[in-house]
Amino acid sequence: MTLCLQSLVVLVAGAMLVLASPCFADDPIPTPEEYAAHVGGAPILKPGELKLDGRRQVCGQRPTVIDNNLDDYGAAFPGFLIINPRLVDRVSTPVKMWIYAHECGHQFRGPDEETADCFAVQRGRRQGWLTEEGLDEVCKFISPAKGSSMHLSGSHRCEYMRKCYADPTIR
Ligand SMILES: [Zn+2]
Repeated sequence: MTLCLQSLVVLVAGAMLVLASPCFADDPIPTPEEYAAHVGGAPILKPGELKLDGRRQVCGQRPTVIDNNLDDYGAAFPGFLIINPRLVDRVSTPVKMWIYAHECGHQFRGPDEETADCFAVQRGRRQGWLTEEGLDEVCKFISPAKGSSMHLSGSHRCEYMRKCYADPTIR
């Protein structure tokens, strides 16, 4: 009987462990400092300190973590942006700025990709750094992206961005 009870306790403890592990995905959002430390001491640039091809990038009061090992060009956590210069350095100026503006769009508009795309092209038009030709470069840049439930295919995103770019009302 004692043995049984013990196994039950071990079983319950084991089940709790199993249940507890997936919670890592729901960890509280890291601070820029926590993220930077986690990726081996990446630099954190204060708001307005980041320059892409000599142009100062601003996203409200959000800092940018410079992570050369990020598996993408850029990323966003609520409260800060991440840029990977190793990849971003390979693309043209308007594409660089679009990447930053897209991640900034996530800061102000949430996780939806189309909405972040729209935010980026409208910001580019408003600030004068994104022309029709620049938008073509952005479209070329994202065209290889495969569609998924979360990310629409490149051509689909592009079609939507062209509409946004032409739309005088801010979305
Ligand atoms: Zn995005």
